[in-house]
Formats: sequence, structure tokens, C-alpha cells
Amino acid sequence: MNFHIMTLFPEMIKQGLETSILGRAVSGGYISIDAVNIRDYTVDKHKKVDDYTYGGGAGMLMQAQPIYDCYKAIEEKINGTENKKTKVIYVTPQGKVFNQQIAIELAKEDDLIFLCGHYEGVDERVLEEIVTDYISIGDYVLTGGELPAMVMIDAISRLVPGVLNNSDSAETESFQDGLLEYPQYSRPEEWMGKKVPEILLSGNHAKVDEWRLEQSKLRTMERRPDLYEKWVLEHPVVEKKKRRKK
Ligand code: SAM
Repeated sequence: MNFHIMTLFPEMIKQGLETSILGRAVSGGYISIDAVNIRDYTVDKHKKVDDYTYGGGAGMLMQAQPIYDCYKAIEEKINGTENKKTKVIYVTPQGKVFNQQIAIELAKEDDLIFLCGHYEGVDERVLEEIVTDYISIGDYVLTGGELPAMVMIDAISRLVPGVLNNSDSAETESFQDGLLEYPQYSRPEEWMGKKVPEILLSGNHAKVDEWRLEQSKLRTMERRPDLYEKWVLEHPVVEKKKRRKK
């Protein structure tokens, strides 16, 4: 999977995504990360990429021309002369809030283009022209789109086959099936007087799975009742069967 990031700070993206698991995924050829400097595409002789907003107001706005030309160059690199349209995500506090489901959907794409805003944001006209998806990482305002793009690229990359050593680990994690993950323990069996739950030492995989599902439900109910309610609505059969057993 190929990520193309339009940014004024390509170094930030490169440094943020080249270590640990994602760094290995890049060198292994499972993903590629192309951070493209929007400033390289400005036609302004002083290399300017921002200007004042019409109508007044604080701060500067990123101009349409450099972003559009940068986008065209990336799209041409991806699709050549073919008339295809790659998804273009503008990371913005004004978008729908990113979650695991969106990550799963986006992980099915071969290429994704991200646009990172800065200053007061971006001239609306270029957004109308190129953006297919407006996505936020939460209801707060950051100084730029680089961190949100990196957050999303990290979450999406983990779902690309081959990026994680053990493909199971993405499948059993929080949100993957609508619940938070169950508590986990490693050696030693006892620490500070706290023992690992006995069932996990039993070797009975069916019982362990049952215990984990129960724990996931309890944890979700307690910490994210909003998610739990949604999960129950989506799993009425499982819940009904359980009630009948009791
Ligand atoms: N004036 C804009 C507004 O009120 O919506 C905020 C601009 S913000 C200071 C600069 C850039 O940071 C945005 O263009 C966007 O790319 C990025 N950004 C800030 N907060 C974000 C968030 N919660 N999610 C995604 N991107 C965000």
C-alpha cells in the first residue's frame, strides 16, 4: 500500500514513520511513504504558499495553486495518463471522526493521498476540486495535519497484510469486533501479590476465549458504554442465547 502525503513539513512525516514496525514495513516493501513538499510546487518567486484570508480574520491560509499542482503530480505518478481518481483525504477538525472501521475500509486501497493543512487551513476552492474524504482525529484543534496523517497512516498500515508479524494480533485488538480488548498478562505468574487469572494458565483454549470475551464485554461496558450499547445492538443473537442459558 502506498501513502502519499502532501505537506509543508515532509521531514516531520519521514521522521515520525520510519522507526519500529512501520520502518520495517517500509524496508520490507509492504508499505511506501512518500512525503511530498507542497512548497516545491509553488509558482511564487519567493516560494510563498500562504496568504491572507479574504474578508479578514486572524492567520494565513494555504493557497490553492501549490496544493493543486502537487496533487496533480502525485496523481500522475500513481495513475499515469489513466483517468483514475485516488482517494484524497484532507485531515481536518471539520471531518468525520476517524475510527477502526474507517481504518479497515481505507486499508483496502492501493494508494491514499493525504493533505495536511497548516496555519488557518486551506483555500476552500482547492478542497472542492481534489478532496474525496474529510477526516478528523478528534474534537480538538492541532497546529497542523502532519500528526493526524501519521496517526491515520499508523492505524491503516497495521491492517496491511505482512506489516504485523502475527496477523492475529490486529484481529483480536480493541475495536476490531466492536469491543475493547480483554486484560492481558505476561511473566511472572505473581507480581506485587497479584496473580494471573487461573483460567489463563489452564491450557483450555475454549475456556480462555470465553473468559476473554466476557472480560472484553465488562471492560467495554465500564469504560465505553457508548460502544457497548452499539455492540449489543449488532449482536442480538449472541446476547439472547446467553440470556436463555442463564
Ligand atoms: N481553522 C481551522 C478550523 O477551525 O477548522 C483549523 C486549522 S488548524 C490550526 C491547521 C490544520 O491542522 C488543519 O488545516 C488540519 O489539516 C490540521 N488539524 C488540526 N486539528 C485537526 C484534527 N483534530 N484532525 C485532523 N486535522 C487537524
